[in-house]
Amino acid sequence: MDRLQNLPACLAFGFGGLLLSSCAGGPVEGSDAANLLAGDSPTQWPVHGGTHAEARFSPLDEINADNVHRLGLAWSFDTGMDRGHEATPIMVDGTLYTTGSWSVVFAVDARTGERRWSWDPQVDRERGRLACCDVVNRGVAVSEGKVFVGILDGRLAALDAESGEVVWEVVTVDQSKDYTITGAPRVVDGKVIIGNGGAEYGVRGYVSAYDIDTGELVWRTYIVPGDPSEPFESPAIEAAAATWTGNWWEYGGGGTAWDGMAYDPELDLLYIGTGNGSPWNQQIRSPEGGDNLYLSSIIALRPSTGELVWHYQTTPGETWDYTATQPIILADLEIDGEPRQVLMQAPKNGFFYVLDRTNGEFISAEAYVPINWATGVDLETGRPIEVPESRYLEHPIYVQPGPLGGHNWHPMSFNPETGLVYIPAQVNNSAYAHQEDFEYQTGVWNTGQGEAENPRGERIEPSGHLLAWDPVAQEERWRVEYDDMWNGGTLTTAGNLVFHGTSDWRFVAYRADTGEKLWEIAPPSGVIGGPISYELDGTQYIAVMAGWGGVYGLRTGGRGSTGQLLVFRLDGSTPLDAAAPSNVTRPAPSPIPVAATDETVAEGEALYARWCASCHGADAVGGGVIPDLRYAEPDVYDQFEQIARDGTRAQRGMPTFAAWLSSEEVNSIRAYVLTSRAEISEP
Ligand code: CA
Repeated sequence: MDRLQNLPACLAFGFGGLLLSSCAGGPVEGSDAANLLAGDSPTQWPVHGGTHAEARFSPLDEINADNVHRLGLAWSFDTGMDRGHEATPIMVDGTLYTTGSWSVVFAVDARTGERRWSWDPQVDRERGRLACCDVVNRGVAVSEGKVFVGILDGRLAALDAESGEVVWEVVTVDQSKDYTITGAPRVVDGKVIIGNGGAEYGVRGYVSAYDIDTGELVWRTYIVPGDPSEPFESPAIEAAAATWTGNWWEYGGGGTAWDGMAYDPELDLLYIGTGNGSPWNQQIRSPEGGDNLYLSSIIALRPSTGELVWHYQTTPGETWDYTATQPIILADLEIDGEPRQVLMQAPKNGFFYVLDRTNGEFISAEAYVPINWATGVDLETGRPIEVPESRYLEHPIYVQPGPLGGHNWHPMSFNPETGLVYIPAQVNNSAYAHQEDFEYQTGVWNTGQGEAENPRGERIEPSGHLLAWDPVAQEERWRVEYDDMWNGGTLTTAGNLVFHGTSDWRFVAYRADTGEKLWEIAPPSGVIGGPISYELDGTQYIAVMAGWGGVYGLRTGGRGSTGQLLVFRLDGSTPLDAAAPSNVTRPAPSPIPVAATDETVAEGEALYARWCASCHGADAVGGGVIPDLRYAEPDVYDQFEQIARDGTRAQRGMPTFAAWLSSEEVNSIRAYVLTSRAEISEP
């Protein structure tokens, strides 16, 4: 109780990314770095990020830099589902547990690839329209004979690990609101921890803990304040409310924790990354400014109670969709000659952060990708040094990175032997503009972004690279450039290896110390999930989910295969299914005449950007799984209105836009898409 009563006083020092060192416990002695990263069962992959430290480092070295050229497919397992496969599998006691799209769970024999069971939570396909970034799922948690999955519609289920039967199931959100779950739960302290997403639509983020045996709610910690005329849920939320202005709660406020978490069992602290503001535009959300705690922050919670112990805010007054939900890694590093228990994160805003995880103290931050919204982070205060015009208060402007971030959910990894962090880095920018006529609407994106007329700066061509980053020196060590931006997660191993899947349909092994490419294979789809490693009967395996989804795919090539779990070992000799070369080109679509004025096409382009691009791809260029509308069969254009307004494809996850788009507007979008088709058509 003492700690709780002390919290507000501590928090008074915590505004704006300042730190709460006086509120947290002192450093713990005798921290075992090897065990932190290798865990108690190094031959398994029992936790989302390998161990609770989430470094995605495997201490196995049977497969290593000298012999990885012999790596081959042991077996593959077909999920039979299209759309995004973003999961990191779990391997416990000889079974792999993973997920496909629509939160479907698969249990597969880790030796043979034989299906043990699967479970489909039967998500209402209409719900798919609330998934900002496709109907994906990033994996399960497994503990004490149960498999836990967060479901797109906001449910959390516990399944019997042997049979797949439901042990308990709870609804973790108000399903009348636009919440979704795509992240993996974590099991800590006998509780299943789950967050949620939906900050593009207008929700209030929180994290919940459920009893592992009964599914009973143990605690719920809100990330942003609600309506201040109601009682505050905690002193921490009361303190946060002082950093907000206006009527933010009417738009949800955001702060959804939809992905990154880690846990330090010695310190007994659960670390959670929090999301962007809802709407993005702070002028609308909190017009008088303020830091808007605890958006875009790392929060450290006591897992028994959910109480906030410390926080560090990466982007005070967030206004660019700069989430800090990105994966979190715990490690012990020597910094300035001192051993430090650190937490590392490369959030969307482009800075790589090293914090003292005992108390949240800021240690260092440097830009890991080119950025223009800030010039650095103040070493004294831990606050970014902003470039004022990047807030688009007066004038639209290209800000770098854009909402896709310098790094997104794709897991990074840390190798204690090379001392390097391997980041799937992204270079991009986006034009931001204040929306004058903002009106909150349920069921759609509410970002507060207006039309960017004559923005300052220039659009850059997006690109991606694998970045090897030295977190102590805060410097790049090596990189591998890719043509495309949206690449997979990384795994690093004691065999001096880094594994990385790419959006251009490759799965590659590099030397961890130098970045030299040692091996690659071309699966019949993009590979963006998190790879893992495990050992069974003395044989080391590498496993990864393939199945291109990711709505922001930039590639225009042919469609990938359905999802697959691919498992490799030395001298594996199973052929890859339907191996498709990564340079496959799609036949040009047949021309379809379009009769529309330039004005109609321009209106269609603007409407497409607002309503369609987040799934079907920016500039009418699709990402590979959700259809690229330029290549649609001719009858799709005949049925355009029924599909868009009447929901004739709702069961395939196509939203129904009757409430938001008139027939004329749908027709303008159709004209724009047909014009885009004409640009690539061949007679
Ligand atoms: Ca977001």
